[in-house]
Amino acid sequence: MSTAHVNGGHVFATPQHDTGVEEGVGTTALLVAAARAIETHRPDSLARDPFAEHFVLAASASAGWPTRLRHVPDGDANPLWGRFARYFGLRTRVLDDFLLQSVRTAGARQVVLLGAGLDTRAYRLDWPPDSVVFEVDRAEVLAFKHRVLDGLSAKPRAARAPVPVDLRADWVAALADVGFDRSAPTVWLAEGLLFYLPADAERSLVAAVDRLSTPGSVLAYEVKLEPDLMTYRDSPLYTSTTQQIGIDLLDLFAKEPRPDSAGALADTGWSTSVHTPFEFTRRHGRGPLPEENDALAGNRWVFARKP
Ligand code: SAM
Repeated sequence: MSTAHVNGGHVFATPQHDTGVEEGVGTTALLVAAARAIETHRPDSLARDPFAEHFVLAASASAGWPTRLRHVPDGDANPLWGRFARYFGLRTRVLDDFLLQSVRTAGARQVVLLGAGLDTRAYRLDWPPDSVVFEVDRAEVLAFKHRVLDGLSAKPRAARAPVPVDLRADWVAALADVGFDRSAPTVWLAEGLLFYLPADAERSLVAAVDRLSTPGSVLAYEVKLEPDLMTYRDSPLYTSTTQQIGIDLLDLFAKEPRPDSAGALADTGWSTSVHTPFEFTRRHGRGPLPEENDALAGNRWVFARKP
């Protein structure tokens, strides 16, 4: 059963049942948390998230998943907990660097994490004083995250504003309600989010980010460029994720053709740069490299700035 919400003139269907991290798209937040836990404990880790393993252990859906590479019998050769987990480690590092560089050089003090999931950057990163981190995700995902972090007595290193809302609904009003200042520059992040949203919700999200951004604001997001997602349905990455932890990513991704969000931003004056993850693998000296039948082949990380 679903209900309709209006967002910027668009009406989107929104499921009424929010199953948090235990089912559906919420489980992908646990997948990224497990990958971050594994990355954290690598001797050559690209990013450290000491909270990540606690999320994995706290949810019934993931309690049996590995949080160290040594828990994985085939280690790095495992397509899910080796290469794919390293992909998330690299993505975490690159976007950590983007966020910190943006607040330091652009002087922005408000950061909006769209589809924040189990992102703990508000607790992990060295934010300038007076920074505020808005975390937008569905209510049950944020509630689970807070239960785990409260249980650890974790202390945020920036002001935190949870924004429990479905991004297919009127998230702009929900953001304004918790103190978002549209007259100040903003650092926006949509990490691992857009391919789960209907194309219209992505268009609406990008238009809203533009509308709410003063000059100097920046945005980073991830997209998948392949015209047919099913091209890589037999890839080691998708099949191992389904077989080992029961998450069929292709089933969770929105199937319609994706909008050209980088083009839309450029049309409204943003400068954009589009990168493959592999460029960052080469820069950091570790991370995934291209392979045959590669479900990461179409992934791009986009960085945009409003002049
Ligand atoms: N950005 C986080 C990270 O990288 O750790 C989480 C990524 S996880 C793969 C995808 C997240 O998007 C989940 O937390 C999920 O709940 C959220 N999400 C997906 N569709 C959403 C929607 N319609 N509204 C709000 N959040 C959504």
